[in-house]
Amino acid sequence: MANIELASLVRNVPDFPLPGIQFKDITTLIGNGPAFSEVMRLLIEHYRGMQLDAIVGIESRGFIFSAPLALALGIGMVPVRKPGKLPADTYQIEYALEYGTNKLEIHRDAFAPGARVAVIDDLLATGGTISAATHLIEQAGGVVVELAFVIELNFLGGRAKLAPYPIFSLIQY
Ligand code: AMP
Repeated sequence: MANIELASLVRNVPDFPLPGIQFKDITTLIGNGPAFSEVMRLLIEHYRGMQLDAIVGIESRGFIFSAPLALALGIGMVPVRKPGKLPADTYQIEYALEYGTNKLEIHRDAFAPGARVAVIDDLLATGGTISAATHLIEQAGGVVVELAFVIELNFLGGRAKLAPYPIFSLIQY
């Protein structure tokens, strides 16, 4: 299945959750067995051989892809979560959204020092979320090798904002 066919399985929902937002709904992609399998095959193929120690997934849609990727690579999966969800000692970061702010947390003991990690979320928009996650990972002693997304919204310039981290994405708009 080509990436163009994967793109055709992402549902565009206009004006969700706010007027003017074109929401990229991945439920139609992951609800299709061959398509979900192909997304995972492409991610696994890309990361096999990169000598990673962990895959970090961003709550909540990042978890859908980070867990099977970590499993296939035989390494651990570390969650970055919304505040108040992780039970042990955490590092927390607050970051700006277009309107207001958001917070994310990671367990302080999530990594062995110097652990090489790739970070995955479903979609790259402005890059604010993943940028906050990279700060948390580095605070916890991890080394960010690459950032991965199933979908990248090119026109929002997230990639430039995230330089010099390498970025891997499967579907671009
Ligand atoms: P950003 O921090 O701007 O890169 O936004 C990325 C986060 O917001 C990801 O976790 C996405 O799941 C979500 N997101 C932002 N824009 C969209 C969109 N147009 N469609 C679906 N999810 C989005």
